[in-house]
Amino acid sequence: MTALITLEGVNKHYGDYHALRDIDLTINEGEFFSLLGPSGCGKTTLLRTIAGFESVSSGLVAILGQDMAGIPANLRPTNMVFQSYAIFPHLSVAENVAFGLRKRPDVNKKTAVADALAMVGLVGYGDRAAHALSGGQRQRVALARALILKPKVLLLDEPLSALDKKMREQMQVELIKLQRQVGITFILVTHDQEEALVMSDRIAVMFEGRIGQLADAETLYRRPRNRQVAEFIGKMNFLQADVASVSERIDLHVAGLGAVSIDIEQAPERVDTGAAVVGIRPETLSIIFDGEMTTQKLVDGVVDEVVYYGDMTYYDVRIAGIDKPLNIAMKNVIGRPVLEVGAATRVAWDARALVLLK
Ligand code: ATP
Repeated sequence: MTALITLEGVNKHYGDYHALRDIDLTINEGEFFSLLGPSGCGKTTLLRTIAGFESVSSGLVAILGQDMAGIPANLRPTNMVFQSYAIFPHLSVAENVAFGLRKRPDVNKKTAVADALAMVGLVGYGDRAAHALSGGQRQRVALARALILKPKVLLLDEPLSALDKKMREQMQVELIKLQRQVGITFILVTHDQEEALVMSDRIAVMFEGRIGQLADAETLYRRPRNRQVAEFIGKMNFLQADVASVSERIDLHVAGLGAVSIDIEQAPERVDTGAAVVGIRPETLSIIFDGEMTTQKLVDGVVDEVVYYGDMTYYDVRIAGIDKPLNIAMKNVIGRPVLEVGAATRVAWDARALVLLK
């Protein structure tokens, strides 16, 4: 893997406001990389410092080994697709796409536009008026315009947020395909965790100007490094725990579940003996219905809340020794009833699904 973008000790201040704090980051060539985090965490600022629309207060931004300090956005090997798409409504689709080439008289416009439109699935749309396009089509035009210059890096700032759910899901798949096809690095800014999980090779989760965790989707989901990441990515039950000993394995007592032994890998950050928190995902728990067998450990509970989603039912189950009911995600299968509030039940759990957090 070749490093394409390197950030070292990057800080950004807006007056008194510290928007980026000591960011160290390497993004590789050909990677689909996402910056994910809640509103105001600094992800757009970080993207704009890579693009050259913002200067850094301190630290290094390098692309292909070259320090980008003082190099304006238009001379960087990056191109940005904005949230608003910035499409000119009075121009045709082809004219909008060709706008990306305005400073490149050396490139054959006609062929380049046709190639770019083909890349985003808009063959035959060149003469259409841009104002008459759907949201998804405008998105494609914006992508074609950014790709026509064959940048090393495509920067995407919440590119799908204006689309409805169906269209967004379709464009997610298309963007992944497009990235594989063109092979350039994509950096996506999103506050939508599902979008980041689906699309990215790696994700940096940001909070308050810092990177909370940088990992692939599965690691972020299965082994969140701290409670903040665990809460932001998917749903998680948190149980109080008391760590008795730490060696190759960790022995602990978990509220409601009792004594447990887990692998050291299940503690993404070093833990000591004493008070800790255990996270457990709703889909790793299951309700055992009458007549069903399991080899997993069981705990008795009472159904507190039922939320039916069609394919899934989410249960809140109250268990002795835990303040908050456990949230459990069950796939709805034929022959399995949906329980009612107040029903007594048994919950199966697996120690391998626990993650130990500070
Ligand atoms: P969102 O998803 O809401 O766009 P974000 O994570 O992209 O959030 P940024 O746009 O990077 O967040 O902003 C980070 C913080 O820096 C915010 O608190 C914002 O108000 C502040 N900020 C951004 N740009 C400026 C600016 N030009 N001047 C002052 N403060 C700014």
